[in-house]
Amino acid sequence: MVVVLKPKTPNDEIEKIKRKLEDKSMTVSIIPGKDYDLLNISGETSNAKTEEITSNACVEKVIETQQGYKLASRLLHSDNTLIKVGNKVIGGDELTIIAGPCSVESKEQIIGIAKEVKNCGAGFLRGGAFKPRTSPYSFQGMRFEGLELLKMAREETGLPIVSEIMSTSMVNRFAEDVDIIQVGARNMQNFELLKELGKIDKPVLLKRGLSSTIEELLMSAEYIMSGGNSSVILCERGIRTFETYTRNTLDLSAIPAIKRQSHLPIIVDPSHATGLWWMVEPLAKAAIAVGADGIMVEVHNNPKLAKCDGQQSIKPEGFKTLMDSIAKVAGATRKMI
Ligand code: PEP
Ligand code: MN
Repeated sequence: MVVVLKPKTPNDEIEKIKRKLEDKSMTVSIIPGKDYDLLNISGETSNAKTEEITSNACVEKVIETQQGYKLASRLLHSDNTLIKVGNKVIGGDELTIIAGPCSVESKEQIIGIAKEVKNCGAGFLRGGAFKPRTSPYSFQGMRFEGLELLKMAREETGLPIVSEIMSTSMVNRFAEDVDIIQVGARNMQNFELLKELGKIDKPVLLKRGLSSTIEELLMSAEYIMSGGNSSVILCERGIRTFETYTRNTLDLSAIPAIKRQSHLPIIVDPSHATGLWWMVEPLAKAAIAVGADGIMVEVHNNPKLAKCDGQQSIKPEGFKTLMDSIAKVAGATRKMI
């Protein structure tokens, strides 16, 4: 059971309501929200009389729910969440297009690709500076130097930058340097990292774990939101199945499922979902068709020589074609590009 409090309810009133419920053998935890706070009630909820609780002037409503996630749930927030980054709004009528290389490799590479994707209509530049590689012998990223080069690319093009964080020790640095902090699939359940990201005021792009359910993804979003950071963008990037033709299996059904369960924006990454450059465009179109708020795609000027994920990277000219073809699908779903 969840008690939704009116905006700006004073702390002493919250404590009073909490104590009243605790006196009736219920366990109450306060969940601070962006606009209003919630009380999560467990234990002897059969002792709770809804009319008695709602008679308090500070209570907006009481919702019966067994869902583990509350702040991320559409039950408590029926409107879609809109996240403003620079002059872009994520989750609204305009598609969010994030494009760029898997990894930052050099100044010329990142600035060159940033200019190309911007010319094609991308709204954000992606680029990994810290790379979560399966093998410790693979390229691990340019690290802090990579972040500096991304900042230069932002300066040159005006595109906001998206980059992956891997450690709690870097939260402040990322909060300062990047516009959207990416949490990769491998860290979706790094709860200490999620808690730290909950304390800052910076949008987080949370990618679905390799073998995580939709509910687990939403619970991870809840970790960030329950710390006070409500700017979470979800990303479907394919999940592990028995199929080996593609790198992962893109779970397109996750998009309408998440739209039904949650008010958070959701984008799709067809590059990591398929691992095959020629499948990126058709699945980008499919993602938009099922209602995704945008896409994140890997674009490289010379995929054959890319230090990471060249086989799934499209060239700038392929990105141009992709943009033209998703524009047609966007028209059908009433989204703008
Ligand atoms: C990435 O976006 O570069 C990445 C590593 O993706 P994922 O975490 O989805 O594997
Ligand atoms: Mn990659």
